Amino acid sequence: MSLIVQKFGGSSVANAERVLHVAKIVTDTYAKGNSVIVVVSAQGDTTDDLIAKAEEINPKASKREMDMLLSSGEQISIALLAMAIESLGYPVKSLTGWQAGFQTDSSYGNSRIRRIQSERVEHELGKGNICIVAGFQGLNRYDDITTLGRGGSDTSAVALAAALHADLCQIYTDVDGVYTADPRIANKAVKLDEISYDEMLELATLGANVLHNRSVEMAKKYNVPMEVLSSMKDLPGTQIKEVVDVEKMLIRGVARDNDVARLSIIGVPDRPGVAFKVFSTLSAKKINVDIILQSIGRDDTKDISFTVSRSHKQAAMDILEELKNSLGAKAVVCDDNVSKVSIVGAGMQSNPGVAAKMFEALGAANINIQMISTSEIKISVLIHLNDSERAVNAIHDAFII
Ligand code: ADP
Ligand code: ASP
Ligand code: MG
Repeated sequence: MSLIVQKFGGSSVANAERVLHVAKIVTDTYAKGNSVIVVVSAQGDTTDDLIAKAEEINPKASKREMDMLLSSGEQISIALLAMAIESLGYPVKSLTGWQAGFQTDSSYGNSRIRRIQSERVEHELGKGNICIVAGFQGLNRYDDITTLGRGGSDTSAVALAAALHADLCQIYTDVDGVYTADPRIANKAVKLDEISYDEMLELATLGANVLHNRSVEMAKKYNVPMEVLSSMKDLPGTQIKEVVDVEKMLIRGVARDNDVARLSIIGVPDRPGVAFKVFSTLSAKKINVDIILQSIGRDDTKDISFTVSRSHKQAAMDILEELKNSLGAKAVVCDDNVSKVSIVGAGMQSNPGVAAKMFEALGAANINIQMISTSEIKISVLIHLNDSERAVNAIHDAFII
């Protein structure tokens, strides 16, 4: 007998028909003699709709109250799925995140799981119940409800799988696996049979939102075997595991992230300590900086550009405006009509020429590169937002077809 954690995302439980279909997948797994824990997200666009409702009333609502509101979406799903499973005649218990013992750090809106006190879940499994657990939510040390950040139900599922030493964590979604690029953007994208934790972590972090990046980080840390598969079609999915054959493909996939803004401080004095001043001030305000570019000094001044997520744009602008005066810079510029497109693949470490091939594909498509950043297994470029989808396709087809 195995312990299997199955997670179903919003589109998989969007309406009564889908909920009943999910109940069938779950009970089939249970009927084969497995213990089953199910993690569900809020139905369809519920989380977005709840955010819109809050905006109507108070666009500056506290994060605590936002978490109180947003966690309600998952609570609806667990009850409905449990009712569907009851209707099929199987023993089932739905549990909120806090009933399932999810303890998080004290922050709201993007909290991290500290530990799972899994006694209740174990007790229910011991009684032969299928356990349905609300994803995306936990309780902090003030006994307040917290949420794990958008897409966080994947992380709830992997955390339960890790805590209970599950044999497998299946992430059911609206695509039948991890593709070489978002299949909604790249029509030539192909499904991967397998991908390593490291490559999947990079792809998810660089914008492939098929998995919450923290779920992959956790799966790697606790060695949880993961599978991404369709809740709608009965097809083999993608296995995510420690080692895969890196020889087969030079790059594993292309990701894009439109949640980027580029900021520049122009004409700062070309002297030691300036970059330190800029980035230490940003980091003191907890603003994460991604790609950084500094121009070569000319006429005793230089320009420093960097990217941040759009939610940090205003705060970063305010800091740069202040620094402009104290450092004696000429101007501060911001552009959020940008997109970051990246390639990921462990195979590129041992193959020179990957960057050149990526830039060639962009050049041939007449797409201008604004910034570049590289690491061992990824290369990212910042380009104009309007070029984003064309860039994904041009790069994808240069490497993968
Ligand atoms: P869920 O609601 O099940 O959590 P998500 O919308 O969070 O589903 O994730 C699934 C979506 O991820 C797909 O519909 C697809 O558009 C997108 N996606 C982005 N990159 C990829 C990729 N490389 N492979 C597969 N899907 C991807
Ligand atoms: N419902 C949450 C969201 O929409 C969590 C999730 O779907 O994973 O982000
Ligand atoms: Mg998701």
